[in-house]
Amino acid sequence: MTAASVDREAQRLTALDSPIGDADHGSNLQRGFAAVRAALEKEPPATPGAVLVRSGRLLVSTVGGASGPLYGTLLRRTGKALGDAAEVDERQLAEALRAGVDAVMQLGGASAGDKTMIDALLPAVDALGDSFAAARAAAEEGAVATTPLLARKGRASYLGERSIGHQDPGATSAALLIAGLVDAASG
Ligand code: ADP
Ligand code: MG
Ligand code: MG
Repeated sequence: MTAASVDREAQRLTALDSPIGDADHGSNLQRGFAAVRAALEKEPPATPGAVLVRSGRLLVSTVGGASGPLYGTLLRRTGKALGDAAEVDERQLAEALRAGVDAVMQLGGASAGDKTMIDALLPAVDALGDSFAAARAAAEEGAVATTPLLARKGRASYLGERSIGHQDPGATSAALLIAGLVDAASG
């Protein structure tokens, strides 16, 4: 589950957010996903779509920083697009996630190559046409591939050229999120 992998990786995410950010990405997400886990355990929603909508709302209200509203929007829009489906295949997840990623791009104004979470999310959406496993790998590759990029959005963009040579924390956490979604969807 995503909350567990965020717990495991929180220190690494915060470490990645230290040279090109404010060293809070891991703790931001840890707080958010702990709230998500608690709420879902207390009252499990009936469908995958409802799980994502509920999780997204909670992330907006519990994660501080840029990533809270962005991840919140991602999960709410993706969940809404899944509708009432009881199970989700690659094609359904691809369509729904594309709607979610579009909403994040609208909200944050980032495009591919700006060194943000988008650089892990977009390749994952594209690879979902092949398989869940391909999407997971594509997100991880996309996160690693942010290292040589110049940041054009968010806090890291204040550093200009000095943002080059560091992997983006949000792209790294986005790969964890995709892994969690894929695990949940493939049972
Ligand atoms: P903050 O920068 O407010 O401390 P976080 O550290 O939680 O927020 O999240 C930083 C991450 O958010 C970045 O690594 C980047 O991937 C993502 N991010 C920041 N701004 C944007 C944006 N406009 N669009 C998409 N992603 C963004
Ligand atoms: Mg930060
Ligand atoms: Mg911050």
